[in-house]
Amino acid sequence: MTTLADITSLAKRRGFFYAGSDIYGGLANTWDYGPLGASLKKKIKDLWWDRFIERRDDMVGLDSSVISSSKVWEASGHVASFADAMVDCKTCHGRTRADHLIEDKLDIKVEGKSLTELTAIIKDNKIKCPTCGGTDLTDARSFNLLFPVHLGILAETADLAYLRGETAQGIFINFKNILDSSRVKLPFGVGQMGKSFRNEITKGQSIFRTVEFEQGEIEYFFNPKTENWEKLFDQWLNAIKGFVIHTLGINEENLRVREHDDQERSFYSKKTVDLEYNYPFGFKELWGLAYRTDYDLNQHIKHSGKDLSYTDPYTLEKFVPHVIEPAVGIDRLVLMVLCDAYWVDEANHRTVLKLSPTLAPYTAAVFPLVKNNDSIVTRARAVFDDLNKTFRTAWDERGNIGKRYLYQDEIGTPFCVTIDHDTLVDSMVTVRDRDTMQQERVAIDKLNEYISAKLK
Ligand code: ATP
Repeated sequence: MTTLADITSLAKRRGFFYAGSDIYGGLANTWDYGPLGASLKKKIKDLWWDRFIERRDDMVGLDSSVISSSKVWEASGHVASFADAMVDCKTCHGRTRADHLIEDKLDIKVEGKSLTELTAIIKDNKIKCPTCGGTDLTDARSFNLLFPVHLGILAETADLAYLRGETAQGIFINFKNILDSSRVKLPFGVGQMGKSFRNEITKGQSIFRTVEFEQGEIEYFFNPKTENWEKLFDQWLNAIKGFVIHTLGINEENLRVREHDDQERSFYSKKTVDLEYNYPFGFKELWGLAYRTDYDLNQHIKHSGKDLSYTDPYTLEKFVPHVIEPAVGIDRLVLMVLCDAYWVDEANHRTVLKLSPTLAPYTAAVFPLVKNNDSIVTRARAVFDDLNKTFRTAWDERGNIGKRYLYQDEIGTPFCVTIDHDTLVDSMVTVRDRDTMQQERVAIDKLNEYISAKLK
């Protein structure tokens, strides 16, 4: 059974991600992506953008600002109610999210319950502080997750703004701009990807829950009178599941779809489901899918006084479109990909990241068998230069071949190519497969073709 510690330790050892501000003692719930993590994350983001924006003629992209007017967040409801219920321990002064405390102890869902109800559940079940075991906990209190920022020099006159708590609002506030400046017509979606910020205090979930994270969100606008929302909802559910299973290569058994019940679902949503992944700490939300009706656009119409309706170019019907929102956390995709690929091959005493070749930071690694033979090194360099034109290729000349294989296995490189003494005679190299460890001799001028065929 893979633990979160296995993943975070591999991540640190090999440069996928590191704890944030580490040399200064760390900063809770922040993480920095290292060379391999940055590459993996970028590949996932590029695939998301490609599949959901560029390959569809009913989608357009957006890149809105991270800092936005406080009015945006008042209208969206985030200032008033984007809050988690917290309890403080009077003994150790640790603060914990009330829902997580209850869910961890009693294994029940409590989203949507009031502060009084949460307090009662904690008291009735005598739930203790998770840090010190103390029993003297405060009542549950509301704690807003938005990060305020002050623009301007003097604090008294500065304008209050917020770091966005989700990327979605940027889409709603630009809805009219997009209608006016492009030739979109319903049904169509707007997608964007970027950083969001939430003052999360639950610790210990690695890149699953952070204060600064990246989201990929889509608002799919449609006319509720002419479109069947249930059909659209199912299409989107299939699209996101397909992305996870086929594009990212995730094992279907580790996924499940969980529908929100009436209590958990937001009051304006007609249906919400979470696509959950079986992380080392259990099934948790990876991707949310919600039919949000016309709630968000109406809120912005009400607060801004602007007309954000849509006029059908054929029927001239004027109305406020409804939306379906698929929203995913990119960092949760990264963590899922690493957890799903992690494999301890006990028989061969090695740890392998069985990443799909489209995601592996390097597709191939080239090794000169020895580094003190100029002919071998020069030949290997030529092989590297050639391969690197098509596939991202790593160069490694340090240590014995066995160690080099182990390193590449741990970072998920599908193919290792060794140039040895025989290569100088027969122009063939040894290609070793990450998963089967089988080795084949391949002619240098067929190497590109050989790897391309294996990637299909
Ligand atoms: P959770 O219940 O886990 O806090 P949420 O329901 O508040 O998540 P949404 O507001 O639906 O999350 O955000 C959309 C997506 O953004 C989530 O499905 C998740 O993948 C991602 N996400 C949300 N909060 C975080 C976070 N703090 N760190 C990393 N990813 C996050």
